[in-house]
Amino acid sequence: MSLKHAMFATVAAAAFSFVSAPVSAEKFITIGTGGQTGVYYQVGGAICKLVNRGTKNHNIKCTHTTGGSTKNINGIRAGDLDMGVAQSDWQYHAYNGTAPKQFPDGAFKELRAVFSVHPEPFTVVARTDSGIKSFDDLKGKRVNIGNPGSGQRGTMEVVMEKMGWKMSDFALASELKSSEQSAALCDGKVDAIVFTVGHPNGSIKEATTSCDARIVNADNDVIKKLAADNDYYAMATIPGGMYKGTDGNVTTFGVGATFVSSSKTDADTVYQIVKAVFDNMKRFRKMHPAFGHLEPSKMIVNNLSAPLHDGALRYYKEKGWK
Ligand code: GLU
Repeated sequence: MSLKHAMFATVAAAAFSFVSAPVSAEKFITIGTGGQTGVYYQVGGAICKLVNRGTKNHNIKCTHTTGGSTKNINGIRAGDLDMGVAQSDWQYHAYNGTAPKQFPDGAFKELRAVFSVHPEPFTVVARTDSGIKSFDDLKGKRVNIGNPGSGQRGTMEVVMEKMGWKMSDFALASELKSSEQSAALCDGKVDAIVFTVGHPNGSIKEATTSCDARIVNADNDVIKKLAADNDYYAMATIPGGMYKGTDGNVTTFGVGATFVSSSKTDADTVYQIVKAVFDNMKRFRKMHPAFGHLEPSKMIVNNLSAPLHDGALRYYKEKGWK
């Protein structure tokens, strides 16, 4: 290349990069959710949809991944995720360092609450031919206790410990992900599945329409005591008629789904995400039946044990909510 050509190439490259440089760089954020047939995946999808409608104004592009409560919180801590969905019990334990098995690095003091979402009853679905009539009957049966990293797995372990049950008390304790468990139930590989999840959802719908299965009560004294003793649990009802085969109300306990982040996630970004959700609350409620009853006044208070993120607090103060 001649000198003249080389100079031209350099000038052209400089001009090109000048022309193509965006006004301000796009910022990609990742939200940790749950299996595709659960509700967390829909929460992440709905939030990203609302955020991405405004990308031309704030330059934030949002994507979401699968995982589960404790995996999401650990992903935020490791810096792999910016935000995530997590059960209220696991938010509490992560912040306070009270669950060394799920959070081996101890208390996660940078964990921040953003808002709470839908209620998540502890849901036990059993094949009708299994003879399982309530939670207590799971002993000796083949049960999917959930994949490590999911909230339901951790919560099931807490209940098992209080019941004095070990893994060996089940004929089989499988660790399938939520997206795989309904097929396993209807293929006869397990007798029951355990899922802490909002309703209605695709997973339980699949289990109750592909084979004869029903949701059973989980309301024994051990469970009632757990719910009474801990703020992050409460007794819960799954309304009858929501799923085929379960006509009456089901009594169980449950947690709340929450949206969390880290103090290391930039406040302007969190502000824009919170704004995208609350400025479009009517639209958000319509994005999934489990969001239909969400009320901002409750979402900024209920089930949050970590401090609010600065970016979220800024928006809530602007609205006069705090
Ligand atoms: N509560 C479940 C978990 O943490 C996920 C439920 C869902 O996928 O909606 O991990």
